[in-house]
Amino acid sequence: MKILVAIKRVVDHSVRVRPNSQATAMDIAGAKMAINPFCEIAVEEAVRLKEQGIATEVVVVSIGADTAQEQLRAALALGADRAILVKTSADLQPLAVAHCLHKLVEREQPGLVLLGKQSIDGDNNQTGQMLAALCGYAQGTFASRLVIEGDKARVTREIDGGLQTLLLRLPAVVTTDLRLNQPRYPTLPNIMKARQKPLATMTPEELAVDVTPRVRTLKFELPPSRQAGEKVKDVEALLARLREAQLI
Ligand code: AMP
Repeated sequence: MKILVAIKRVVDHSVRVRPNSQATAMDIAGAKMAINPFCEIAVEEAVRLKEQGIATEVVVVSIGADTAQEQLRAALALGADRAILVKTSADLQPLAVAHCLHKLVEREQPGLVLLGKQSIDGDNNQTGQMLAALCGYAQGTFASRLVIEGDKARVTREIDGGLQTLLLRLPAVVTTDLRLNQPRYPTLPNIMKARQKPLATMTPEELAVDVTPRVRTLKFELPPSRQAGEKVKDVEALLARLREAQLI
């Protein structure tokens, strides 16, 4: 079974980003970039399925600028076999990404498509669901456990207040949640080997996909800064303050 994994290049989770001076975009010039953490979990899961002899090939794909090659090479160092970059300078939105991935699913015919549950930059949580609809595939979102059972996938989903287990017919789309696995670190020999692995480049036009944005962002702003707390001298004073604020 071939597994297609979609990975996004995003600002590293440790970077504190701010809007630019006109508040029209986030200022990410020079920021440290990384694989979206949920996508890293998707790569890890695909590589583990290959190590178990369930997957035969792991193909990673990213849609975006040429610089996304860096994240594709990082995924190859984690154990993916081959990479595809759909190169565009467009302001990408989930529907455009889902259309590009749909075309690649038609070309590659994977048995399973893995995505992160959401990108930590846009917090959209839309691409996997849109892709499943475009392909007409079953979907298991927010997966915290994935077991392949013949031509089916048993997916445990993290939902409000508990867990839900689904049995999906393959091919299917699965999006990964935080507890699915703990991604490995790449070893130096694997980083070296990744340089030799195939990385194909194409454009949305070659896939006949229109990536024109459908949504326009009007403004970015930071949340209001937190007010400083108040120190009280003892428990009595604390209770008095809570009563005064009608919190008890
Ligand atoms: P989102 O719907 O933007 O929250 O993204 C959910 C998932 O879709 C991500 O974790 C990726 O697996 C995939 N995805 C989103 N944007 C891209 C992109 N530009 N290239 C590749 N995969 C993407």
